[in-house]
Amino acid sequence: MFGFGKKGPKWTESADVVVLGTGGAGLVAAIAAHDFGAKVVLLEKSASVGGTTAVSGGVVWVPNNPHMKEVGVADSRAEAATYIRTIAAGRSDEALLEAFLDRSLEMLAHLEAKTPATFQAVPKYADYHPEHEGGKPGARSIETEIFDTNELGEWKSKLRRSPIFGGTPMTVVEATTWGVFASPLALPYKELGIRFKAGKVSGGASLAGRLLKALLDRGVQPRLETRATELVTDESGRVIGVKTQNAAGEQLIEAKRGVILATGGFEWDAELSAAFLTGIPTHPNSPVTNTGDGLRMAMAQGAALGNMNEAWWCPSIDVPGEQYEGAPLHRGDFAVRSMPHSIIVNKEGRRFTNEAHNYNDMMKPFFDQDPVAYGPRNLPAHLIVDQQFLDKYLFITSVPGMKAPEFVASAPTLAELAGKIGVDAAGLEATVTTFNGYAERGVDPDFRRGESIYDHFYGDPKQTPNPNLGKLEVGPFYAVPIYPGTIGTKGGPKTDVQGRVLHVSGQPVAGLYAAGNVAASIFGPGYPGAGGTIGAAMTWGFVAGRHAAQSK
Ligand SMILES: Cc1cc2nc3c(=O)[nH]c(=O)nc-3n(C[C@H](O)[C@H](O)[C@H](O)COP(=O)(O)OP(=O)(O)OC[C@H]3O[C@@H](n4cnc5c(N)ncnc54)[C@H](O)[C@@H]3O)c2cc1C
Repeated sequence: MFGFGKKGPKWTESADVVVLGTGGAGLVAAIAAHDFGAKVVLLEKSASVGGTTAVSGGVVWVPNNPHMKEVGVADSRAEAATYIRTIAAGRSDEALLEAFLDRSLEMLAHLEAKTPATFQAVPKYADYHPEHEGGKPGARSIETEIFDTNELGEWKSKLRRSPIFGGTPMTVVEATTWGVFASPLALPYKELGIRFKAGKVSGGASLAGRLLKALLDRGVQPRLETRATELVTDESGRVIGVKTQNAAGEQLIEAKRGVILATGGFEWDAELSAAFLTGIPTHPNSPVTNTGDGLRMAMAQGAALGNMNEAWWCPSIDVPGEQYEGAPLHRGDFAVRSMPHSIIVNKEGRRFTNEAHNYNDMMKPFFDQDPVAYGPRNLPAHLIVDQQFLDKYLFITSVPGMKAPEFVASAPTLAELAGKIGVDAAGLEATVTTFNGYAERGVDPDFRRGESIYDHFYGDPKQTPNPNLGKLEVGPFYAVPIYPGTIGTKGGPKTDVQGRVLHVSGQPVAGLYAAGNVAASIFGPGYPGAGGTIGAAMTWGFVAGRHAAQSK
């Protein structure tokens, strides 16, 4: 045995499959490995279960899923394949793409038949490029319903919850029916309060909670605050176990059939981010434990890497002083920037993107470089709104009727606001004049804001002629910095159709699997629709867990 002398490693314990990480990928991998006959050990570095998945919206993208029919949206395998090829922009492996289309349905069928993770379609959540061939106006995105955390017994307090959405347990279907973005005061706050007090959760916490419940029902308890630090191999290079570290010290856990990396992205590791990413997402939205541990472990085994320059980009807003588990809390902005009476500008006061488009793609111009000034053309960037916005919509931490949050810069005129935030005043005034003309006509010829039905999902249906375009004309005006962020990176070891990590030679690394954000995404630079990250993470977790359990 490599590095352990003739007798081999002195195992602390032995399992068939060891899964690293309790996000969507890891939880589903552990369920699948168990259900296909393996003894499973599930490790989690942090003190709670669920990873980024548990703080997310919990939406899962499965094209051609059976719930689409229930809401009258037709789909086909061929349409989904065409659409994903467009989204991946030629940077996806065809065999993986084809496998995803089938395995995602198997994953869904397995969970719905054998676990509390059942789903409903979100009919109005459009694909992120619905007007492209094969795109759909909704329902490829599915979600779980409200979950009662009391079902977890003593594990209730160990389930991670979103520090932002955790207090409002409502499904996406409810949120859209109630008009959360356009009419925030119409929410049934009393009912939401009752749910919250009763321990009910929605979104990612519901999804992770249901998957955790499935594991507890199977007698698999995650080991919290236990960090996998190294893979153990035999002399042939096969991965045969994992070295871990926790309060009790170091352990060696044998994995007779395989180790599954499901440790999430590397967005919180400055060195890895600088080494690989196109632009630095200085404001990640995920829990701080996603530091690329699995990526490093795979690299140490000679893994071939893919999609390393990409992340699931998301513009982010900070509320000064807000912390989450010892690090600054960066709030991904999914909706504020899309509503009428708002724009995003650079230091010249110019718009540079479609503010209302999907967070992954609208953020790419944040990283544009000015070749002569030799710096980012569009950073710092500011989100600007007027008083009409505050009177109608949620604005970070305020609801209509409240004053603007204290950390937000405000001024009676655009020129004064520009002076306060270091933006060119004439540039900002000219931009707003042009934008107000677009709002009046309902067409944005510069960035096509409000053209896609995706944009309208986060718009105000009462706003005419375009739900995403409203003038900025009533002072005071408000500004807040908006930063490049990410909800997770999506580059890592390449895998084959069984979820096995591929060596640079092209052969699988025996005994090693990867799923979720730790691995190379099949979507290249794109994001197919709401749930695209978790849907893929759960699918590859399922594939890897099943294959590892059935391997010798
Ligand atoms: C606010 C927000 C909303 C979002 N909404 C959605 C949505 O609705 N739909 C969607 O598809 N995506 C959404 N996302 C993105 C999505 O949550 C992530 O892309 C996805 O959850 C990643 O899943 P994962 O299993 O790969 O990793 P994660 O869920 O990040 O889990 C990784 C886990 O591994 C653990 N870990 C790390 N290193 C080690 C180690 N060495 N040993 C043991 N454990 C380790 C981590 O602590 C973590 O718990 C959202 C993200 C955010 C921040």
